[in-house]
Amino acid sequence: MNKQEEPRTISILGSTGSIGSDTISVLQSTSTKYRVLAITAHESVELLAQQAYALEPEFVVIANKEKYRELKRLLSGTKSRLGAGDEGLLEAASLKTNWTMAAIVGAAGLKPVLTTIAHGGTVALANKESLVCAGELLACEAKKSGATLLPVDSEHNGVFQSFDFNNPESVEKIYLTASGGPFLDCNKDDLQRVTPEQAVKHPNWDMGPKISVDSATMMNKALEVIEAFHLFPININQISVLIHPESIIHSMVSYWDGSFLAHLGNPDMKIPIAYALSWPRRMPLRGSRLDITDVGKLTFRRASQQQFPALRLANEVLEEGGGSAIVMNAANEVAVQAFLQYEISFLSILKIVEASLARIQYNKADSIEEIMSIDNEARRMARNLIAALD
Ligand code: NAD
Ligand code: MG
Repeated sequence: MNKQEEPRTISILGSTGSIGSDTISVLQSTSTKYRVLAITAHESVELLAQQAYALEPEFVVIANKEKYRELKRLLSGTKSRLGAGDEGLLEAASLKTNWTMAAIVGAAGLKPVLTTIAHGGTVALANKESLVCAGELLACEAKKSGATLLPVDSEHNGVFQSFDFNNPESVEKIYLTASGGPFLDCNKDDLQRVTPEQAVKHPNWDMGPKISVDSATMMNKALEVIEAFHLFPININQISVLIHPESIIHSMVSYWDGSFLAHLGNPDMKIPIAYALSWPRRMPLRGSRLDITDVGKLTFRRASQQQFPALRLANEVLEEGGGSAIVMNAANEVAVQAFLQYEISFLSILKIVEASLARIQYNKADSIEEIMSIDNEARRMARNLIAALD
């Protein structure tokens, strides 16, 4: 067989989530031949089994070991090999692929992402938390293995398409837009009463529960500022955030000659996923098209750090460096989980993050062991702070 006709090998880490499911839709609409090596999930065992029937992957992993027997029952009679737990996840991540989608949510994705990068190939990176916690380590591993990292986050995917990597000094600024989430103009009293059901309903994007809450607190944009800092050759003061409730312009790159290059599109994650899948080319994608006359008007305002304390935290964390971004991320994950389980109020989320940052100070976080140890300590601290609330 001619080498060019060989199917591309693909794995999807976090295949049952919002990004994972969109990735599968994009794959099913491409004319490129592919062979799926691995799919993984945390505990949605039935959806994982359905995906396994549709994609016929070589390896199927459920991270929660308690669901392994059920997976085995559901997939008896298929040829897929099955795995479970962290070992299974890391084995899936270590399969050498042409393309891997890293779509696990949270710092749980860090070790799998690191393992994938160490094995080379192209890594479509949706899991922003891994970049926030270990941006330098991931870049260093990618340099060693020759892996290519492609940002999937819509804003960063847009910047990636507009940024002149051959002349980074010609770039003046990058702008990340934020819809402002469902509570953009709510006052403090309203925010105090926000329920998890309201918080996960994003006005423009259809996403997993954690990132939806992060969008409502603006922590998502704070994580994205740090993500941008690690992905692009720029300084902290070259990153700006704009409130843009229509979510049509995802990001802009401005140049010293006064030009602005913007990325526009419908708020649909299949678009950046398709770009990452076909890069450096582009694939046709069925589905809704942006009708700019339908949108009519695009509005923007500055995102003040006073109105959005999460953005202030992002800047402080970038200036402080070391392990502070790991603390911010871990405390946020714990607090969001507690909010989703009705244990704390919406406004307590950022309070827990701030209090955790104030109490834990780490300068060095170079190795995965150091990173995980800070992550664990921050989680313990955040849980203690939550327990002390009542
Ligand atoms: P999701 O909650 O819908 O899906 C998460 C996936 O990760 C699922 O497959 C789940 O089974 C798996 N998972 C969760 N915890 C795990 C664990 N402990 N171990 C192993 N697997 C685990 O999340 P999502 O919205 O698809 O987001 C995935 C990532 O992509 C996040 O980092 C998010 O910030 C990023 N992202 C998402 C969007 C979006 O539109 N959804 C946009 C930009 C970036
Ligand atoms: Mg985004």
